[in-house]
Amino acid sequence: MGFFDKLKQGLTKTKTSFDEKINNVFANFRKVDEEFLDELEEILIMSDLGMDTSVKIIDNLRIRIKKEKLQDEEDVKRALREEMQKILDVTDINLKLNTKPSVILVVGVNGVGKTTSIGKMANRLSKEGKKVVVAAADTFRAAAVEQLEIWAKKAGAEIVKRAEGVDPASVVYDAIKITKQTNADILIVDTAGRLHNKKYLMDELNKIQKVINREMAECDREVLLVIDGTTGQNAIQQVKAFKEETDITGLVLTKLDGTAKGGVVIGIVESNKIPVKFIGVGEQIDDMEIFNSEDFVKAII
Ligand code: GDP
Ligand code: MG
Repeated sequence: MGFFDKLKQGLTKTKTSFDEKINNVFANFRKVDEEFLDELEEILIMSDLGMDTSVKIIDNLRIRIKKEKLQDEEDVKRALREEMQKILDVTDINLKLNTKPSVILVVGVNGVGKTTSIGKMANRLSKEGKKVVVAAADTFRAAAVEQLEIWAKKAGAEIVKRAEGVDPASVVYDAIKITKQTNADILIVDTAGRLHNKKYLMDELNKIQKVINREMAECDREVLLVIDGTTGQNAIQQVKAFKEETDITGLVLTKLDGTAKGGVVIGIVESNKIPVKFIGVGEQIDDMEIFNSEDFVKAII
């Protein structure tokens, strides 16, 4: 299955809710009027795009419909796709990792796919000829370290790990040292995501960031927030929580091969101006793609 098919299959739920309802709107549709636009707006809001983003999209669509004299279903759908795409294309999606070494800090709540995404990214970067070190800074469970170790092996990356329960910031400190000593290109830091213990988690994250600030002051840094694509409105809260403590440079949207909604990300990108950089489309090492807004909106509508 190609990327587009996988994505399309993964977005079935969004597709169904969008498609079914859009078709319903069109079934009763005689002309593109305010009633039609209202119904469309309602669908967007219900599909987790959020109020502001939905209103913005419909406002822009209304202007285009007038200006371009759009009348039929296909033209309106195409314009709608383009308006969504415009929002998603808000900033550069390329990783900015031009210094040697540079660092990727991966954050997000439990179970969203951080460790898996790190495996996939490490693999990608290794294939590009980069020497990658991963830091097992989720020291909360031994299993978390083992899981990262398996991925690191598959990806051909070096892992820096310490005993269960040690201070995550000290693992990062050691990993930075090893990254420099071995002349590696990129350090990827895995972190814990226990948001139920928010204060502790954020303190931990701050300590990690302080170490990176101090030891890799001149180095390019990406802070990637991983979001589970099957999450609805709750993803907005997650962005808010992590934004308070980190300068997020990009999003990784995972699990778009499942019954993912995904639509929530359009609202997140719009309100935070943080781009989606990668998407996860499965549990295997190659199941990660660079985000493509055109394919994404095509899979939705
Ligand atoms: P973490 O707690 O954020 O580190 O999340 P993990 O990387 O451990 O992933 C949690 C679960 O989600 C695992 O069972 C992964 O296999 C699964 N997972 C991660 N990314 C994807 C994806 O893109 N698609 C699917 N189907 N499963 C994924
Ligand atoms: Mg993990």
